Amino acid sequence: MYQAKQRGKNCYVIYTPDMGIQYKRRMTIENDLRVAIAENRFSLVYQPQVELKSGDISTLEALVRWTQPNIGNVKPDDFLSIAEESGLIIELERWILSTACTQIVSWREKFGLDLGISINISNLHLSTGRLAEYVQDLLYNTRLPPAALEIEITESALMDQRRETAETLVKFKQFGIQIVIDNFGIGYSSLNHIKRFSIDRLKIDKSIISELCNEDDGKQLVKTIINMAHNLSLTVSAQGIENSEQLHNLQMYGCDAAQGFHLFKPAPAGKTASLLLSHTPWIESKDNHQTVNIDSSLTLE
Ligand code: C2E
Ligand code: MG
Repeated sequence: MYQAKQRGKNCYVIYTPDMGIQYKRRMTIENDLRVAIAENRFSLVYQPQVELKSGDISTLEALVRWTQPNIGNVKPDDFLSIAEESGLIIELERWILSTACTQIVSWREKFGLDLGISINISNLHLSTGRLAEYVQDLLYNTRLPPAALEIEITESALMDQRRETAETLVKFKQFGIQIVIDNFGIGYSSLNHIKRFSIDRLKIDKSIISELCNEDDGKQLVKTIINMAHNLSLTVSAQGIENSEQLHNLQMYGCDAAQGFHLFKPAPAGKTASLLLSHTPWIESKDNHQTVNIDSSLTLE
């Protein structure tokens, strides 16, 4: 019945034993997630985003990690959808918001850097109506300047018809928080909505960036997204940069920022702190199109 409802209702689904197995697996993860939240078994890693003109690290994206005692590391893609379906994501994301904002304030003060923090927020959480108040209190308590907080939302969240989602986005803008469309280019989003919610930045999906070296069409697509965004007064970042050719092309096309394994892998707080401590411009300026050597010990997760 639930599968039929999920497929858009008004249809039927015949039971297969595989469904039972899937259901059991889902229930196990959901139960484990409950315990993990209660016992605080999550951690965060941080992946730097580099401004392409200055070569500076401007923002760190907080990415959640879950280590299960019996299984080891569970990939975010394997548990976040279950966390969202079960509603557990709200508690988890509150913890992520609070941990990441507290951490970035401490680094800003310690290293004297104007660093931002970028946090992924699920569609469910955006639509609960209480997220804006939680974030407002958090900004007040941590003293993080609102402009240093980026909230990454999906294209589907932008197109969400729910009143609560629209209200949350409007409040974020009133607070002065940056809103980023994550994984841009693989879903559907209307330009009208991008303007309506005063989106600040588009983050081009890694699947589009991966086509940058192979296909002429891929290059045209990236160029078109960058030009369109700039014409709408938005900035653009690219994620999933895995080689110098992709980076070089993005610099040529005027992309504002970049993130990917070629620059930095996500790293735990300790390693990220060492990286910030040895703060230098990580890539040479736009005119030079070269990457500098990056200490590999600092780029491993
Ligand atoms: P995302 O927001 O698009 O995050 C980027 C993902 O790409 C991360 O995977 C990161 O490790 C990976 N990545 C970064 N650079 C490269 C690269 O050069 N090549 C490749 N192949 N991958 C790269 P991760 O950490 O496994 O996260 C996957 C997704 O899970 C995220 O995609 C995001 O949608 C979600 N996620 C992660 N943490 C959170 C969180 O705290 N809250 C929410 N709601 N979602 C999260
Ligand atoms: Mg993201």
